Amino acid sequence: MKKLAILGSTGSIGHSTLSICESFPDRYQVISLAAGSNIDVAYAQCLRWRPKAISLATEKLAADLKSRLKAEGIAGIEVLHGTAGSIQVATLPEVNFVVSAIVGVAGLEATFAAVCAGKTIGLANKECLVAAGELIIAAAKKHNVALLPIDSEHNAVHQCMRGGTPAEVKQIWLTASGGPFRNTPLANFDRITPQQALKHPTWIMGQRITIDSATMMNKGFEVIEACRLFSLPPTQVRVTIHPQSTVHSLVEFVDGSILAQISVTDMRLPILYALAYPERVAVTEKETLTFDLTALSQLDFSIPDLTRFPCLRLAYEAAEAGGKACIALNAADEIAVAAFLAGDIPFMGIPSTIEAVLQLTSGQPPASILEVLEADLAARESAREVIARQSTGVRR
Ligand code: NAD
Ligand code: MG
Repeated sequence: MKKLAILGSTGSIGHSTLSICESFPDRYQVISLAAGSNIDVAYAQCLRWRPKAISLATEKLAADLKSRLKAEGIAGIEVLHGTAGSIQVATLPEVNFVVSAIVGVAGLEATFAAVCAGKTIGLANKECLVAAGELIIAAAKKHNVALLPIDSEHNAVHQCMRGGTPAEVKQIWLTASGGPFRNTPLANFDRITPQQALKHPTWIMGQRITIDSATMMNKGFEVIEACRLFSLPPTQVRVTIHPQSTVHSLVEFVDGSILAQISVTDMRLPILYALAYPERVAVTEKETLTFDLTALSQLDFSIPDLTRFPCLRLAYEAAEAGGKACIALNAADEIAVAAFLAGDIPFMGIPSTIEAVLQLTSGQPPASILEVLEADLAARESAREVIARQSTGVRR
């Protein structure tokens, strides 16, 4: 029996994970949950799953949830809050598998603590690996912990890697849908609205990752994530635009063979793979995870145009630069995406803000999670200043 802590239980990945637990109750037991501020969903999850512990983002939210549970006469659920709360949820002794699906750097400390506590990790939170990849990978090696990717591309690569040894890999290909603006003329990019950018053609996901998909920063993060997970240099991690999102990624071996992973466009499948690894669990038609190969008519692949998607170029540059560049890339992107959604900067203001912050970033790779968080805060501050200058038109 896998005993789960689900970090980010009220989000898109959290919902999909709980739906797997619903389908396979003999295999997966929910022990603990962590979420941000969606108290109604957190309350409903407490009623349904009766976790041992749940953590919310703030003390106030935790107090509200506690009184709602008390009013309903529900006892035995420990309600925690903040980073300390999500760390506690992730490291409970009875938990043996942690699904890391809090969005952004907010999930970093709990994920790192889970690795250090020897829990197997199903990793959805890519920002953790972008900002603190070297530290997380080193801790996973030290504590002999498996980091099983849930991000669909890395999950696909993980599956294809079973077809050869690491030394036999020539390069990997991450597929990208190209997002909603794959065919939009570059001249129109500055008129893109948040509503348009929030409409992803093939996946339904949280807001940040949906905007990151529209700018292709998501693919840039995934390049960095792949470098860390599979110990490859950026030159061996390639990106191909594949609008059908049917092939989730490919591994090219030295003998010229290319293995691809094909499945439905549903995150429950990579989650199930990670939860079940090294086994495979049989699904039924009822779970709608089976793929109809006979309905497949066309698979297109092309090379992305980095002038249309400067975020992807910036991610490759940050991966090559090392040091604190990837921390700044993620932090500046988070601030710039929020500013775009708030209507403070145009769509192309996202890459220009990140580029400006990267130019201001220097320094050695972080030696601790504390240093990652410090560099993250500094880059956020710097992004806010860049945005304030842009929106007031003041130039230095
Ligand atoms: P989401 O926005 O739907 O959910 C985010 C979750 O994090 C929510 O439960 C939210 O309450 C929680 N959260 C936010 N701030 C928090 C805080 N301070 N403390 C505790 N919890 C907090 O996001 P999502 O789409 O589920 O994505 C989650 C992660 O998985 C992201 O890192 C994303 O890049 C990655 N991912 C998602 C998908 C997908 O299909 N949704 C695919 C690949 C990778
Ligand atoms: Mg992905």
